[in-house]
Amino acid sequence: MRACKSCMRLSEEERCPVCGSNTSQYWSGYFAVLDPETSQIAKKMGIKSPGQYALKVR
Ligand SMILES: [Zn+2]
Repeated sequence: MRACKSCMRLSEEERCPVCGSNTSQYWSGYFAVLDPETSQIAKKMGIKSPGQYALKVR
């Protein structure tokens, strides 16, 4: 898996399918957002769409 350097979204792509930024294979911390409206971590990180995300991306 790779993580987007901009929005932290996890994917298999070299470019983020959500925002089009480059992705990195160096990331740590995994979390899933099911409902951005009710997720505290999603609010904290500014995430607006459900999906799988990394906490840190290098
Ligand atoms: Zn992205």
